[in-house]
Amino acid sequence: MSYKIAVLPGDGIGPEVVNQGIKVLKSIERVFGDKFEIEYALVGGIAIDEKGNPLPDETFRLCKESDAILLGAVGGPKWDNLPSQLRPEQALLGLRGGLSLYANIRPIKTYNSLIFSSPLKPEIIKDVDFIIIRELTGGLYFGKPKERYKKNGEYFAVDSMIYSEKEIERIARVAFSIAQKRRKKVTSVDKANILETSRLWREVVEKISKEYPDILLEHMYVDNCSMQIVRNPRQFDVILTENTFGDILSDEAAVITGSIGMLPSASLGEGTKGLYEPIHGSAPDIAGKNVANPLGTILSCAFLLRYSLNLEEKAKLIEEAVEKVLDLGYFTQDLYVNNPNAKRLVSTEEMGDLIVKYIERGEIND
Ligand code: NAD
Repeated sequence: MSYKIAVLPGDGIGPEVVNQGIKVLKSIERVFGDKFEIEYALVGGIAIDEKGNPLPDETFRLCKESDAILLGAVGGPKWDNLPSQLRPEQALLGLRGGLSLYANIRPIKTYNSLIFSSPLKPEIIKDVDFIIIRELTGGLYFGKPKERYKKNGEYFAVDSMIYSEKEIERIARVAFSIAQKRRKKVTSVDKANILETSRLWREVVEKISKEYPDILLEHMYVDNCSMQIVRNPRQFDVILTENTFGDILSDEAAVITGSIGMLPSASLGEGTKGLYEPIHGSAPDIAGKNVANPLGTILSCAFLLRYSLNLEEKAKLIEEAVEKVLDLGYFTQDLYVNNPNAKRLVSTEEMGDLIVKYIERGEIND
């Protein structure tokens, strides 16, 4: 089979980590004979520099025509002071909103070899395995009015948190369906003691839960959840939450895995088209140094094969390769420090090569 993949490397470490993801997809092509038709396009700051628009029309068109999209990261200090509609991050909102990719899936899993890379105690984070399902096209990031205005000589700013019943229903179904293939528990996170959107959220999630009698549903306030994630993360199976809460909680949860560089994500809509990206940003502090951890991007490629191309076996092989390479103690800089399991410090490129080696040979020899 042949599949069309739009590749948007973006800014900072984006191109470095995306190159490793592409290397891995090409090794899957070589081993299994699948055909990935890869086409590159501009996004984020580099697109502002070259086209005056963080999401040029031709980039959006390519994404629309493709089976799946792989994105690196966008943004950086060079573009920080532009007006908000011209900032690199607008491209992400444009892609998510424009392609109706309303469900963001972020797995939080501990690797045994990385148990000492996290600042949290090993006994707290051992065997953690949960998924955050974040609503991605509603809430504060999209609600209108969103503006700044002046009244009586003083500036005011407003962002609007809006959710419709339908938006909550469809994301709740994603969470319950995923929980059915896991440990059958959904924790819905809101702030229903204060926010009207959260009260509607809670009612609708309760209603949808009746369609999934095999799933245990619990509700948790977001402030408590942020504490529980570092206090007792093993209690979670699937966390379901709205856009802003999910953004913040998933960065917090990244600490469990040892590095933000480890975490992949998938953004999905009604069909099989999806946007796949590591959860980290463009990391300007380490860009261009060949030290960034590419595993979040490589694991995003596994997600791409699983959710958009339905190539489960190949997705699993990539995940197995990542686990194997880490078990052997090959770590990028972010994982290496203070980790007794570390055997060799490797660069971004070397990490990509090791994953490819495992995929192609089923082993890694020094
Ligand atoms: P960041 O995720 O880029 O970096 C936070 C810290 O994590 C930095 O110390 C960085 O060096 C480290 N880090 C991130 N990814 C890493 C990797 N793969 N390997 C090793 N270390 C890694 O977040 P930030 O510093 O808040 O933001 C930098 C820029 O990225 C900003 O312009 C921000 O708007 C943008 N951003 C983009 C996205 C995206 O494209 N999806 C997401 C978040 C932030």
